[in-house]
Amino acid sequence: MHLSSISHESPLDPSNQRIDLIFTTRANRTIRMYFEVKGAQPVSQGAIADAACILGASAAFMLKEPYQQDLPVDPMLPRNLRNAFREWASWRKGTPPARLDITPRPDPTTASERPPATLFSGGVDSWHTRLDERFANSLTLSISYQQDRPDTIAEGFRQLSRLSAVAAEAGAPGAIEVVTNMMIADERLRDAWAFRLHGPFMAALGHLVSDTISQLGISASFTYGQTVPWGSHPLVDPLWSSSRLAVSHVGSAWSRQEKVERVARSTTALSYLAVCEHGLAASGPPNCSHCNKCMRTMLALDALGVKPEDAPSFDWSGYTPEMVRKHFIRSRGDRKLLGEVEAYAREHGRPDIAEAIEAAARRSRPFMVLTSAERAVRRWVPGVTQHRKRLRGYRERVLKLIGFTRYNS
Ligand SMILES: [Zn+2]
Repeated sequence: MHLSSISHESPLDPSNQRIDLIFTTRANRTIRMYFEVKGAQPVSQGAIADAACILGASAAFMLKEPYQQDLPVDPMLPRNLRNAFREWASWRKGTPPARLDITPRPDPTTASERPPATLFSGGVDSWHTRLDERFANSLTLSISYQQDRPDTIAEGFRQLSRLSAVAAEAGAPGAIEVVTNMMIADERLRDAWAFRLHGPFMAALGHLVSDTISQLGISASFTYGQTVPWGSHPLVDPLWSSSRLAVSHVGSAWSRQEKVERVARSTTALSYLAVCEHGLAASGPPNCSHCNKCMRTMLALDALGVKPEDAPSFDWSGYTPEMVRKHFIRSRGDRKLLGEVEAYAREHGRPDIAEAIEAAARRSRPFMVLTSAERAVRRWVPGVTQHRKRLRGYRERVLKLIGFTRYNS
């Protein structure tokens, strides 16, 4: 795979910048990625080169291809990338080593006064990072994944402006917004998103705006002792750093329940907490209050003794802890996170919550194999990705048949 084309222009809205990258695979297929950037300094050629290199090299690694780029990159990147891919290769037996044909720029960038930034989605992990003193004065970098059409891009910026307003309320001195198709530019990359690519791709966005920021904090998904091979990872995330941009993995030292507890102590964070994948797209409250993620967070807040009126970003009208009994707990990861809520509830005088979670887990356990089977097929069977929707539909029909009402993540 190689980087075959770059363009950089100002689209209709002059406060935005638009960067287009085209990669060409060994089989001569093209992968087109666009990035519309708002709230950043003019993007330099060096920033584009570094971002493209991380995107292209990590995508090529997943496609088991060599990566070649003529545009020279920051002198720290080649060694860091090789080490990141060495770590990835150790996660799965038989993975071929990365073959990178990239050239370093002659001089490293010297330190500057540019501020740090943290990725901000409005969820528990990113609020916890914002409440960390080290990032108290950081900018936010928020991303919306959209197809490349004027209406979808406008919708992306509409959603991001809601997030930026919330970040400003919480004291962030500025917000950078990026609408891009990088997650959905190619089906095969989309399938590797969760377990490999979201870390390097988000770090690449940090590089794209590295004329504005000097550090990027990526919020941890897992706690030390529970880390698994995953797209963002405490060992690998720092390896997406260059001399222009330091990338760090923040928050692995706290469990999810501890993070929710910290977030619940901040009035602003609690009022605007947005954990839901379905919520931001709608015009109503930022959380659907029904999916597994919403349910888990509401149970955690309830166990902490948070009053519904103090967490208005959720719809509490139909809520009872009993609701979770009908939820399908998809995976061992979900089970672990709910297990933290269960343990906390048990210790803090809420056996009703603990028992409801236990009942849901007991009922879901025999069917978790459906999720693992689907994941295994998606990961390792070549060419199956075009049937992804059908696989998911099949799993959901089976779950409905056996009486689960909620099965989406
Ligand atoms: Zn939801």
